[in-house]
Amino acid sequence: MDKTIITVAPTGAWPTKENNPAVPMTPQEIADDVYECWQAGAAIAHLHMRDDEGKGTMNKEKFRETVELIRSKCDIILNLTTSGDLHATDETRMAHLIELRPEMASYDAGTMNWAHSGIFMNHPLFLEKLGKTMQEINVKPEIEVFDAGMFYNAMYYLKKGVLTGPLHFQFVLGAPGGTAATVENLVYLKSLIPNDCTWSAFGIGAGHMPILYATLALGGHVRVGMEDNVYYAKNRLAKSNAEFVARAGRLIREINKEIATPDEARQILGLKNRAG
Ligand code: ZN
Repeated sequence: MDKTIITVAPTGAWPTKENNPAVPMTPQEIADDVYECWQAGAAIAHLHMRDDEGKGTMNKEKFRETVELIRSKCDIILNLTTSGDLHATDETRMAHLIELRPEMASYDAGTMNWAHSGIFMNHPLFLEKLGKTMQEINVKPEIEVFDAGMFYNAMYYLKKGVLTGPLHFQFVLGAPGGTAATVENLVYLKSLIPNDCTWSAFGIGAGHMPILYATLALGGHVRVGMEDNVYYAKNRLAKSNAEFVARAGRLIREINKEIATPDEARQILGLKNRAG
């Protein structure tokens, strides 16, 4: 299928209104933002929650409120983070999946130093538990790969049955502590994955546009949004997440491809939890 999936990551765990006043923070703001992105062509929303102070949280009730608001308005695929707070326990990183049954969730395939300030812990025991739990409740893992070692780690879990194929990868380029956002790195990572897999990629910060173009050229799916980038162009903040989605949509059409609808994305990714 010559369709390209646009994922929007509207919030993430870090940017605040001081970085960009348009970052959605509350469940209502996130739901309104996601609805606008769905109208602009996003098929998937990758969601993080914030507590009342604006810090990343795995609070189940925040997820529930947001998920319910979004589900009442549109059919966008929900991809919930399992890594919204570096201090969350293994249990709180999974509890919202078990209760809310999103169609997708992130699966970070290794531990790394995070932004030169902390440790992004994904212990082998946690990854086994998370992979098996996601299989049981039909939540498709989006394997987040910050460097090549994480790719090989995911392949180990595939062989072991902790993950089942075909896998879907999200290459995260330009995170401090991970692989830099260069086209060469993307080409290399893409060359590693088996043919039956699907993949998407994005660059953080200044690497955003080169990686967006290169991903489209290589036939991947794309991710945009303020989790990764609050600037639309040099010295110009994005007005909204939908502005990023609309640009990605224009680029997809310029290369004679089509934007995948949520249902087309479900088919491409083989999702199972349609009813939610
Ligand atoms: Zn995320």
